[in-house]
Amino acid sequence: MDKIKRRKSRQIRVGNVLVGGDSPISVQSMTNTPTTDVKATVEQIKRQERVGCDITRCSCPDRDSALALKEITRQVNIPVVADIHFDYRLGILAAENGAACLRINPGNIGGADRVKTVVQAAKDYGCSIRIGVNGGSLDKKLLEKYGEPCADALVESALEQAKMLEDNDFREFKISVKSSNTLMMIDAYKKLAEKCDYPLHLGVTEAGGLRAGTVKSAMGIGALLMEGIGDTLRVSLTADVEEEVKTGYEILKALDLRHRGVRIISCPTCARRGYDVQKTVEELEKRLSHIAAPITLAVMGCVVNGPGEASHSDFGVCGGHDDNMLFVKGKPYKKVKDENIVDELVNLVEAKAKEEK
Ligand code: SF4
Repeated sequence: MDKIKRRKSRQIRVGNVLVGGDSPISVQSMTNTPTTDVKATVEQIKRQERVGCDITRCSCPDRDSALALKEITRQVNIPVVADIHFDYRLGILAAENGAACLRINPGNIGGADRVKTVVQAAKDYGCSIRIGVNGGSLDKKLLEKYGEPCADALVESALEQAKMLEDNDFREFKISVKSSNTLMMIDAYKKLAEKCDYPLHLGVTEAGGLRAGTVKSAMGIGALLMEGIGDTLRVSLTADVEEEVKTGYEILKALDLRHRGVRIISCPTCARRGYDVQKTVEELEKRLSHIAAPITLAVMGCVVNGPGEASHSDFGVCGGHDDNMLFVKGKPYKKVKDENIVDELVNLVEAKAKEEK
């Protein structure tokens, strides 16, 4: 099976993370604490870091939020994007106070002079920019032209705004054209990918809660990634912020684009299962969420598909009613009782992760 061939995009920098070109597809999230609450925001970012978040974003609706970035960025290890709307002065303040990137739409900050000032601040402080076009906030002129939000309107808006930055000799930016409509978002990104080589930030906006949002994001983001489109992504979920990051990685893992952490292959179980596979998987997911090394685990209910899956995995278990077989690199390793399966697998995974450090 061939690997997915990625679209050739230019590379930019978001703090110490490269986005685009041949850099790994980065996984982003956003905080939902008040940005002025430095303690709570830092705690949330640390949780995101622990599950592998590469870049996070904080809303800056006012001066105090932009000023708070100074202390927040001092205390965290990943780059912080400042989310700015309408007020160009907040963009400048965020750049001065440690933002690695500004999510700002040049078209809604009030004219060419203001765009120029923000771009100058970005250049002075080494910030990149994300043009974040969203189906829910397209400008009136485009809505009148197209009648309603559509892929062509999203693309036209993105390219117009890209031109405003290019006119200021600035190309350190990425673009998103998000929509809560999955098909529209797929269409828009595909069209945009043909028209420019800027790195693309993928996302289905306002995707919904954990289950619906995960499915919608996997369909939208996954469809584009399969065509090689996409350099960074955020799964937007109305759920705990760690879930966004974990889901982002699951999408990348499913397409063999980037591996982080333990990938569990498990069977749906049936009457043949030799132990409680569901409970085992739930416990393993919890106890192995701190592992960053890419390790594959096959957790299978019986011998029908167990040895086959285990042969492609680092470790595996195959059910046998208190006579379960553990596999290491596809080879039978030892028999374990039901109640010891989780501990044995956790020990094996942790030892391998240590070795790989
Ligand atoms: Fe059923 Fe065994 Fe297949 Fe699991 S591996 S679904 S227990 S037949």
